[in-house]
Amino acid sequence: MKDNFRTKGMRKKLIEVLRKKGINNDAVLEVMMEIPRHYFFDSSFLEFAYDDKAFPIGAGQTISQPYTVAFQSSLLNIKKGEKVLEIGTGSGYQAAVLAKLGAKLFTIERHKSLYEKAKSRLPEWGYRARFFYGDGYKGLPAFAPFEKIIVTCGAPFVPEALIEQLNIGGVLVIPVGGDDTQKMLYITKTSETEYKTESTGDFAFVPMLENKE
Ligand code: SAH
Repeated sequence: MKDNFRTKGMRKKLIEVLRKKGINNDAVLEVMMEIPRHYFFDSSFLEFAYDDKAFPIGAGQTISQPYTVAFQSSLLNIKKGEKVLEIGTGSGYQAAVLAKLGAKLFTIERHKSLYEKAKSRLPEWGYRARFFYGDGYKGLPAFAPFEKIIVTCGAPFVPEALIEQLNIGGVLVIPVGGDDTQKMLYITKTSETEYKTESTGDFAFVPMLENKE
């Protein structure tokens, strides 16, 4: 797949849309300007790749809306070299954004087909991450603690294991709520046993599911 002046132009317009909607984190917008989102689509759907919309990626899942990716990435505020865990690899687009922002990224997906696709494509395109097939509710205890954790599916509650696997001072960004809408929570771990929760806005994610396929 090619990234040419046409797709770059479409991307530039998308970045302008995101700025108008209130995203002002330059590092995030620069990285989203660099990553060809259409690589994550089947070629026949190229024309949809730069709409500010979620889009089906197979297995009943979607690539998150660009605004949502920009919003969650801004909240995470990645510093180079930080150890970050993503729950819900999906297309791998959010993972590519985090990797390009300098995160040492670990990402988990519960759908085997999506896991395999992302694991083979991202390194090919130059995005480094470690891919895991498993259940995000459990996190990744063998690689904990993490400085940041991002959940990219709508969770019915905050999984205990994810808080446990944060550093003190670490941040969990997670949409929590019902199947239709969730509140984006910004959770800071303040001590071994305490954390502080802030609520930022309403979003609509595909659900975080238990048990594998
Ligand atoms: N970050 C992705 C968003 C994909 S949608 C992207 O940029 O494309 C959310 C993803 O979370 C789906 O692929 C879904 O299969 C996955 N998911 C849902 N429940 C999960 C769980 N318990 N553990 C890991 N992944 C899960």
